[in-house]
Amino acid sequence: MPKWTVPLADVVVEEPELQAVIETYKSGWLSMGPRTEELEAAFCAYTGSPYAIATSSCTAALHLICLGAGLGPGDEVIVPSLTFVATVNTVAYTGATPVFADIASMEQPWPTAAEVEPLIGDKTKAIVTMAYGGHPGATAEIAALAEERGVMLLEDAAHGLGGSQAGRALGTWGRAGAYSFFSNKNLPVGEGGLLVTGDAELADRARLLRSHGMTSLSWDRHQGHAQAYDVVAMGFNYRIDEPRAAFVRERLGRLDDDVRRRAQLDVRYRDALSAIGGIEPTAPAGEGQSHAHHLFTAVLDEDRDREAFRNALSAAGIQTSVHYPPAHGFSIYAGDRSLPRTDAYASRAVTLPLFPHMTSDQLVEVVDGTAAALS
Ligand SMILES: *Cc1c(COP(=O)(O)O)cnc(C)c1O
Repeated sequence: MPKWTVPLADVVVEEPELQAVIETYKSGWLSMGPRTEELEAAFCAYTGSPYAIATSSCTAALHLICLGAGLGPGDEVIVPSLTFVATVNTVAYTGATPVFADIASMEQPWPTAAEVEPLIGDKTKAIVTMAYGGHPGATAEIAALAEERGVMLLEDAAHGLGGSQAGRALGTWGRAGAYSFFSNKNLPVGEGGLLVTGDAELADRARLLRSHGMTSLSWDRHQGHAQAYDVVAMGFNYRIDEPRAAFVRERLGRLDDDVRRRAQLDVRYRDALSAIGGIEPTAPAGEGQSHAHHLFTAVLDEDRDREAFRNALSAAGIQTSVHYPPAHGFSIYAGDRSLPRTDAYASRAVTLPLFPHMTSDQLVEVVDGTAAALS
């Protein structure tokens, strides 16, 4: 593995979260318990959502959302293709059929109501949005469409933590939303996730299925609150553990500062790249939108060779990525549906490095490297 001068993403673990983890190990209780409850309460406060359920990953949270929402065979669910494949897999886990929506444009690489509406039919039970790169995108518009057409909105907010629209947190616009604590996300712990919902029934179902469908947790039994348990559904082990819950809880306090630093870098990137031909950043946040700035994404002009561009940056020690190879192109989902804008975007998009502690020198290096590669 090359040692990057400027990695795509980077994590700095600080003293407070290390202390929280050490204290948790010293407490002697490691599996899901009081620290997970504190994390969930903190997320309710942070997002304004009535219920929060922490999980082993965002993928687990999305699966629980799909099950809690009652998705199953015969249902159609409209999903973006330009997303991480877990958005689609978790729908398919339930037996429901993912129906791919194209993106709006190269500047707005997410489906808007115009792409989603024609796909709504008798079998459509839900629409899943994904806050691409942290941008609120068309969340509000699709929420209105979903309401009007009587289908559920579910949110994959893996990129959206820290972002909002009209003051309402991404992840809380639909029936339920999921966040990721994967190591490159805005609130990284390694592996972990969390779902929020305002639907008490969905919350109960998700909590039950998170832990084997059992009616009591080992923590309850340890506390003497329960002696035995019944199993009332075929559940999973999708629990987070206490050290990670404590870590995430501690870091949540710094999330907004981190997002602010990402936002400052985003402004500087846009300013510097505007002087360089051949590359165009994707749209900034619109009116009333607060961007979570998970990624800094841009599109190369059609006549540019992306592989050569990425190789040039790589040779200069700058790591880039592509978000994403579209799901409808993977063997498992390949169908006859053509998504021309998604395909065009996926062949021209590039993600540049972005992380809260990225230095001015590092940003200048990326910009200079970009200018040299496109000159
Ligand atoms: C990272 C990610 C996920 C999955 O998150 P995990 O916590 O790794 O399971 C799902 N959807 C999107 C859009 C992601 O970026």
